[in-house]
Amino acid sequence: MTQATRIPVASPVLDGRELEYVTECVETGWISSIGRFIGAFEQAFADYCGVKHAVACNNGTTALHLALVALGVGPGDEVIVPALTYVASANTVTYCGARPVFVDNDPATLNLDPALLEAKITPRTKAIMPVHLYGHPVDMDPVRAVAARHGLKVVEDAAEAVGALYKGRRTGGLGDCAAFSLFGNKIITSGEGGVVTTDDDDLAARLRLYRGQGMQPDRRYWFPVIGYNYRMTNVAAAIALAQLERIEVRLAERRRVAAGYDARLVPLRQHLIPPVTEPWADPVCWMYTVQLTDGDAARRDRIMAALEAEGIETRPVFPPMHLLPPYQAPAQGPFPQAELCSARGVNLPTHGRLTDEDLDRVVAALARALG
Ligand SMILES: *Cc1c(COP(=O)(O)O)cnc(C)c1O
Repeated sequence: MTQATRIPVASPVLDGRELEYVTECVETGWISSIGRFIGAFEQAFADYCGVKHAVACNNGTTALHLALVALGVGPGDEVIVPALTYVASANTVTYCGARPVFVDNDPATLNLDPALLEAKITPRTKAIMPVHLYGHPVDMDPVRAVAARHGLKVVEDAAEAVGALYKGRRTGGLGDCAAFSLFGNKIITSGEGGVVTTDDDDLAARLRLYRGQGMQPDRRYWFPVIGYNYRMTNVAAAIALAQLERIEVRLAERRRVAAGYDARLVPLRQHLIPPVTEPWADPVCWMYTVQLTDGDAARRDRIMAALEAEGIETRPVFPPMHLLPPYQAPAQGPFPQAELCSARGVNLPTHGRLTDEDLDRVVAALARALG
């Protein structure tokens, strides 16, 4: 193969009114964190998720942090977080002075295994953070049942799962609140951006309070709490709104890509396991993720390097949190499923610009690498 163009693992598509809306921000001067697009985006996002409130902020990590702060998570508390997730899930718990308590995952969905939750609960447990990894929703009914039994809050990390349905209900409305990311590689993007959703009026008010430096809404420069500057700009909201207007197109593109991989990977089924869809789930395909049927992380890395040599970018599944230096002591684990799924997992290129020829190329290169 000569000079074929490189296939990136992710690529944003900005084919709606992004430029028009951003131009309006520039022409009117409303480029900072006041302006019509912020409220318009928040309303549209809340409507999309089927919840009363959406609070926009400057990234998905600050969205998670705001959610935890607004729920009252603080020093001495514990929050149950899957071992297999992106580091922001655990770090935001740490930012609060609380401790992330890790739990292993179901190997099929890669999501936290609700059957393991009860054993992790202590008198200090304050909340559970289910993460809808790579776009497949967590089995939320048992998570909510455990939370209700122990009086715990539920914060969805829905950063990778905008639009996914659990038993017909959208992510964002499946717990006390939910955090989304609008980073450049996410399903819809504003470059950097985030959103917290909730049905709870008081929680929404606290989210807005902490997002805006803690300033009391009816008293300027009066700060009853220590807040943060986590505001979204009108420019980012302009892009986010234009992206949200096209979300059904973005999701359909990803369904096409996932179906294209599913069909092409059938002959490789003895070498790899494609993503599963549980009967109660209508997932979105943020990252099409395959599990190698054998070998270790070194073999997985060699396969990824072989694809890279053919101009195909892939990503390893996240390393489990308990193996990262900040979370090695006090030791948690082992978490056998998280360790195995991480070592054998690969995210294939997943975005709306992929053509059938691109999918052919990825799968042919994968077949050669598996050799
Ligand atoms: C992307 C992501 C985040 C953080 O979002 P940023 O916008 O990058 O700060 C949090 N959790 C998960 C699971 C993510 O994938």
